[in-house]
Amino acid sequence: MNKKFVLLGGGESGVGSAILAKKLGYEVFLSDKGKIAEKYVNILNEYEIPFEQGQHTTAKILDADEVMKSPGIADKYEIIKQIKAQGIHIISEIEFGFRHTKGQIIGITGSNGKTTTTSLTHHLFRTYEKKVGLGGNIGISFARQVAEDDKDVYVLEISSFQLDDIQAFHPHCAVLTNLSPDHLDRYDYKYENYIASKFNITKNQTASEFFVYNADDIDTIKYLEKHPTQARAIPFSYEKEFQEEGAFVKNNEIIINLNKTQFIMSINQLGITGKHNVYNTMAAGIVGKLYDLRKEDMRESMSDFNALEHRMERVGKVGGIEFINDSKATNVNSTWFALESMSKPVIWIAGGIDKGNDYEILLPLVKKNVKALICLGTDNAPLHKAFSKHVDMIVNTTDMIEAVNIAYRLGNAGDVVLLSPACASFDLFENYEDRGKKFKSAIRNL
Ligand code: ADP
Repeated sequence: MNKKFVLLGGGESGVGSAILAKKLGYEVFLSDKGKIAEKYVNILNEYEIPFEQGQHTTAKILDADEVMKSPGIADKYEIIKQIKAQGIHIISEIEFGFRHTKGQIIGITGSNGKTTTTSLTHHLFRTYEKKVGLGGNIGISFARQVAEDDKDVYVLEISSFQLDDIQAFHPHCAVLTNLSPDHLDRYDYKYENYIASKFNITKNQTASEFFVYNADDIDTIKYLEKHPTQARAIPFSYEKEFQEEGAFVKNNEIIINLNKTQFIMSINQLGITGKHNVYNTMAAGIVGKLYDLRKEDMRESMSDFNALEHRMERVGKVGGIEFINDSKATNVNSTWFALESMSKPVIWIAGGIDKGNDYEILLPLVKKNVKALICLGTDNAPLHKAFSKHVDMIVNTTDMIEAVNIAYRLGNAGDVVLLSPACASFDLFENYEDRGKKFKSAIRNL
């Protein structure tokens, strides 16, 4: 009898996994409690995959031999509790794709910098002689690529939610960019649970595999001391130097020592700026070196890789005032790096849904660089509480056009208007992309 395989969630990873399951000859059923986007309904129809939306037919789901759960579905949902009570195996898309690919996996996780590091790493491989896929939380799902066009190497952005439901998954090369509290609502409000989930990326790795980590990240180091990885661990750092193995910064250059060779890249020549991006580049560069990419090609790729949309994206200048869109900064840590990279007076647009932020770490940078704070959220009280003593001017807005107009009026030539909210966007916007796009459109209309 065919294996009965149920997919929960009709987004990119659910539909991609359904395609793979169908190809494997399983009896497939996809169920989504919400509405499935038309694009995915069309794909499911095209592949003749049975599905339902707006409901979960419990009997059908509990009849499964195995369930793939989309990362957006939390364990606390009733249906997940029931599946677990029945002892049915739940896996993530990453686990499922891993089981069936012939390719090698570079898995990139961390609290911040995943998308940037994943895209940059993939970019470094552009001249590689084998087929290299980009996936995970980006673009076409990993499982679908495995089903339809399996690659030799995959560069995957992997969230902690994806790592919650892995069993045997072990990337050939794992990268952990950094750790800071995020999404704690999914981890019983315990930071240690979230850290453990991130470390699942290396849990099953073997001695012939690699774990690339940030040696300046205290939480990473502490965890590693207690739970050493089996993989060959390769550090990157701004503060330490590694003469044997690892990446570091000296005299404004990135130096990577690995396998008895050295790679050097001037920070001034990087296509992306800011200290956080030096970290991201060191991580990607180590991976490139592990795959023996040519130094010249790596340098060229590092210099022509541009900032991704909504991540310290330079929108342009109006009246001598520069505008930067960092709408993807949805936590304090990413905003810290944005403010840290500023060398001109800043008019800072921040706020939204505060996930229990501790703004303390921003204070020194705010005191140094921020001349005005424009709060853009339905509840701006936490920002006022944190900054009213330290910023001369604080203004409340609930509309992007208004926020940009005020910023423009307050600014002088030579200033920077920085949208780096440190908060989620759902109070006033659909998502961070919508917030960033509205910011850019308001600038165009100035
Ligand atoms: P993620 O995919 O982990 O959310 P992104 O690459 O999309 O990461 O970047 C999210 C936000 O974090 C952006 O505001 C970006 O400027 C900032 N950022 C990028 N890399 C880092 C890093 N290494 N450390 C801290 N912040 C970062």
